[in-house]
Amino acid sequence: MVMIPGGPGGGQGVTATASAQPASTQPARLAARRAARRRLYLPTFAVALFAAWLAWNGWRVLSQYGPISSIHSAQLELAGPSVVGFVLVVFIIEQIRPAERHAVLARGHVLDMTYLLAYALVVVPLIALIGSGFSAALARVAPWLVIPRIPAVPHWLFIAAAVVAIDAVDWLAHLGNHRINSLWRLHAVHHSQEELSILTTFRAHPLVHVSFLLSALPVLALSANNATPAVVLTVYACLGALPHANVRWNYGKAGSLLISPAYHRIHHSATGRLDINLGTVLTIWDRMSRRAVFPAPGMAAGKTGLAGRPVPVEQSAARPRLGRIFLTQWAEPFTTSEVSDQ
Ligand SMILES: [Zn+2]
Ligand SMILES: [Zn+2]
Repeated sequence: MVMIPGGPGGGQGVTATASAQPASTQPARLAARRAARRRLYLPTFAVALFAAWLAWNGWRVLSQYGPISSIHSAQLELAGPSVVGFVLVVFIIEQIRPAERHAVLARGHVLDMTYLLAYALVVVPLIALIGSGFSAALARVAPWLVIPRIPAVPHWLFIAAAVVAIDAVDWLAHLGNHRINSLWRLHAVHHSQEELSILTTFRAHPLVHVSFLLSALPVLALSANNATPAVVLTVYACLGALPHANVRWNYGKAGSLLISPAYHRIHHSATGRLDINLGTVLTIWDRMSRRAVFPAPGMAAGKTGLAGRPVPVEQSAARPRLGRIFLTQWAEPFTTSEVSDQ
């Protein structure tokens, strides 16, 4: 005979004989299911559901123009030959004069190349869909956001205003990624890189882009004035990628205005979750919020990554197992873990 305790309220419990196998295994199964449910991190599922809803709306919006060609033009803008060519040139420069020497095919580089491939094939189409869904919802809810066309104002001024506004919104989203646990769970994978390089730009969880949808606000506001042509977004993407380069550049005097690799490396330093140096292209937002820490001249390149490796990383095991690490890094934010405490 075995005693099976009662429910949470205690109580009498029930008796069962050893031969009644199903009765004794059922509570064990229930407990296992409950434990599995406890291991799920529900905020990430909520973000995924929101992304799916936006993507569905985006698909319906884009179907007016031909969704496939719209997705293809987004791929050309954000992961086309100019972006990939730029990344390749910087990657070669990194091998010649690196801040920290790594093998060309270091595990961190190869995994980031996988991320680059996934970015071009999966993530950019996702960004195109959720971005269109979000912009359409915004335009429906707040049509007054769109500034009417003003021919008297020079076009370049609108472009400059758009870049500054996008950069401000990206800064705000990045701050949110560091301050809000559910967003940090998605952003932590970007910070897990211990062999930082220009390729690390693409090491990001696909759902992290939901928080950066805020940049659709200035794009929509200035849409009537054509302030964000594709070439501007491509240049902005390259300028935003360059600070990940494994070089010692601090841009000299321009480094007080523009985010340099030495400046962004401090943001990635291996001390954990640092809420400093959060800018993408301009330092102004960090300076205004007293979160700017500038590199000292001749400062040695510090280690990067997350202390205690709360996100599984490719450097931790004897064998690389890069495919498995890649999938684990994408799945990890859906489970509870100690990442939020870092
Ligand atoms: Zn960050
Ligand atoms: Zn970064």
